[in-house]
Amino acid sequence: MEKDLKDFSFEELEVFLKEQGEPAFRAKQIFAWLHKGVESFDEMTNLSKATRAKLDEISFVSRLVVREKYVSKLDGTVKYLFELEDGNCIESVIMRYKHGITICISSQVGCRMGCRFCASTIGGLYRNLTAGEILNQVIFAQKDIGERISNIVIMGIGEPLDNYDNIIKFLHNVNHPEGINIGYRHISLSTSGIVDKIYCLAKENLPITLSVSLHAPNNEIRNKIMPVNSKYPIETLLQACRDYINVSGRRISFEYSLIKGVNDSVDNAKELAGKIKGMLCHVNLIPVNPVEEREYKKSGYEDVKKFQKTLTDSGINATVRRELGSDISASCGQLRKKVL
Ligand code: SAH
Repeated sequence: MEKDLKDFSFEELEVFLKEQGEPAFRAKQIFAWLHKGVESFDEMTNLSKATRAKLDEISFVSRLVVREKYVSKLDGTVKYLFELEDGNCIESVIMRYKHGITICISSQVGCRMGCRFCASTIGGLYRNLTAGEILNQVIFAQKDIGERISNIVIMGIGEPLDNYDNIIKFLHNVNHPEGINIGYRHISLSTSGIVDKIYCLAKENLPITLSVSLHAPNNEIRNKIMPVNSKYPIETLLQACRDYINVSGRRISFEYSLIKGVNDSVDNAKELAGKIKGMLCHVNLIPVNPVEEREYKKSGYEDVKKFQKTLTDSGINATVRRELGSDISASCGQLRKKVL
């Protein structure tokens, strides 16, 4: 099978090219072209025609095709429906903040975590994205908007730690100085809480920000909304988070989607505060976004504020996430698996 050059790490690319009899500097040249978003070998103008033809026979340059693109009239958020080489589609979102441009990327086609409030999991998991397909979202969105993307959040469709090896390879590639070169500190990875993979991630020693989707203060509530909790109950998950903080020295971000009448009472906030007090952490409150097939409702503004105050009164840093792209269904949990 022909190889997608973006599925190689830089070192693997060096080995691959050496095997083809290419000089050592070739990997740098090709890696840089790939990260600029070229769509064919013919665009790699500093390679001889013979080299291009040879590479074209044994490998390919994967592309993402923009099938649909929506721009929010409210805040300039852009949502892409990208088509993959095999016809599957994924979504990515560009958000504009004062501190720069952030892309929210997908890690899988669909998702098998089954969180009850999330649209991305409704059709189940179709397949993992390759490392190249994950990277392509950054490359092609950056090329399309013609501005530098400075931050990445792996918070789109899919569970990144359920596609572990490809995500790790992607992280190394997107951070590589010869490529798009986004600093690890500008990358956040969000997980529903796959505990053994959190321990693996700690060993990778990458200074990214780990976000953990907690969404409940106890097992009773978490079991109802997140099936993953039956495998990794909240105590196990929080212990993994403490261990991650100890090993990495990095602050963890807890995501907490506020669902009316389910997890948004002051008592829920107090119970949560009791469990995470003293941890090097931050809580990101997200009033749950509507999903057509789900009956869950957003908490009211007053309840959100009370929840936040209860946490901050206990000395826990808590902010309410700004909602972007709501007019184009680009908010958290609204991205969907689409298969043609
Ligand atoms: N699978 C990973 C990555 C998805 S990130 C994870 O679970 O963390 C998307 C974040 O948005 C997660 O915290 C997820 O729980 C949350 N989310 C999902 N559906 C949502 C919705 N309808 N409203 C608000 N947040 C939602």
